[in-house]
Amino acid sequence: MKPSAPNEHAPHGRRLNPAELEIDLFCKGIRIHESCDLEKDARVFARARAGLGSGLELVIPGKHPIWLNAPVKEKFAARSPYELRLEEGRYHVLHTVDQIRYDVVLPPAPAWYSRYTSSGVLMREIGVLQGTYLGIYLGKACAFWNSNPRENCKFCITGLNVGSPGGDKAEKTVEEVLEVAKAAKEESGITFVHFNTGYQQGRGLDICAPFVKAIKEEVGALVGVQAIPSRDLWKYDWIAELGCDHLSFCYELQNPEYFKQYLPGKFKHIGQETFFRAMEYSSQLLGKGRVSGEIIAGIEPIEDTLEAIEYITRIGAFPTVCIFRPVQGSAMEDWPSPSFEDMVVVFRRVYECCMKYSIPIGLAPNIEVSLVVQPTDAEFLVERTPAFYWYKTKLAVMKRLAGLVFGRQLQPRKIAADADHVPPPPAEIKPAG
Ligand code: SF4
Repeated sequence: MKPSAPNEHAPHGRRLNPAELEIDLFCKGIRIHESCDLEKDARVFARARAGLGSGLELVIPGKHPIWLNAPVKEKFAARSPYELRLEEGRYHVLHTVDQIRYDVVLPPAPAWYSRYTSSGVLMREIGVLQGTYLGIYLGKACAFWNSNPRENCKFCITGLNVGSPGGDKAEKTVEEVLEVAKAAKEESGITFVHFNTGYQQGRGLDICAPFVKAIKEEVGALVGVQAIPSRDLWKYDWIAELGCDHLSFCYELQNPEYFKQYLPGKFKHIGQETFFRAMEYSSQLLGKGRVSGEIIAGIEPIEDTLEAIEYITRIGAFPTVCIFRPVQGSAMEDWPSPSFEDMVVVFRRVYECCMKYSIPIGLAPNIEVSLVVQPTDAEFLVERTPAFYWYKTKLAVMKRLAGLVFGRQLQPRKIAADADHVPPPPAEIKPAG
C-alpha cells in the first residue's frame, strides 16, 4: 500500500547531528544551486545497478566522516528544503527553512573514470566508486527484466541501465574488471570490490566465481558478492574457497505479502525462504558480520522493517538497510520518499540490534558505503549507556586484531580452488532441481 507523503518542509528547528543529516538528505534529496560546478568538482551521476547510486556523492566531514549518495534527479528532490551551494570555494548544504548550513565535501571523480580499458570500454562503465569501494555489476541484465510480462522488482532500474548508452557495460570480461580494479586500488585506494548480479537463472555465483579469484590473485582486495541466492548451499563453500570475504542477500522486504507484490520475480522463482536459508548457511560458514541481509526501509510497514533488523542480526548477519528511493524511471517513481522520523527509528534499531547481538561493525579498512546509512553512522542516534560504551570498547579491540588479518588480505595471493568449473556437490547432497 502506497504511504502518504511526509511533510518535506516541516522545520527541524535545530541543528541535526551527522547521522540525522545523512538520513534527512536520503529522504528529501537535494537541489543544486547555480553557484555549484558539479561538472568540475563532483563525481558523475552514475546510472548503475538498481538505481540507489543515481545521486550526488557527498561527504559530511568530521571525526567520523559520513558518505552518502544524495538523490538529485528524482521528483521529490526538486521539492527538497536542502540546497547545495558553493561559496568562497567551499561547498555546504543549506536547510532553507531552518536557515542552517552544514559543511560538505564533494569527492572528485577519479581520473580513471574517463579512461578506457585495453578493450576500448570507458572504465566507469565497468565499475564505479560507491563511497570508497568499487561496485561492479556482472553478467547479463537481470533476467526478471526480460520475461513477458516483466517480473523485475518494482523499485529497480537495472534493466534500463545495464547495456544501455551511459549505463553499465553488459557482460564484462575478467581482464576489463582487473584493469579497472587495479586503477581503482592504485589511484583511489580502494580496499573492497563488490560484485553484484541480477537474476542469472541460477548461475549468479558461477558467473562471479572467476572474478572473485582474479581479484584475489591479481589485485589483492577484499571481495564481496551479492547474487540471487542458490538452493545449492555447497556453492557458498566453493565461493568462500575462491576468496570471497563477504556475501550479501538482497531480500528487500520482510512482510511476505509485500515481498510477493513488489518483488514478483523473486517471489515466483526464488522465494523468501531460499533467501533466509542461504543467509543463515552463509552466516554460519563465514562467521559473524561477514554476511549482509539487505532490506529496503520505506515500502513495507515500519514494524516489518524492525522485525527484519532483529532477524538479520540474530543470525549473526550485518543489516544493510537502504532508504527507499523512488528512482526516476522505476515503476515506483511516484511513491513518496520515506519520512525522516520513521528512518531515525529504523537506524536507531539497527545500532541497538548490532549491540545486542555483538555484530562486528566498522572493522574493515577504508570501506565507506555511500548507498546506505551504515550501522557505524547510526551510533549518533543511540543513548550513551554502559552497554554502548562496552560495545564500542569491544569494537576497538576487534579492530586492532582485524587490522593484522586485513593487511594480509590486501596482498595478492594464490587461490587453489578452481573458478572455471563448478565443482560437483558433495556426495551426500543432491542439488536442488
Ligand atoms: S533482482 Fe530485482 S533488484 Fe536485482 S537487478 Fe533484478 S529486478 Fe533489479
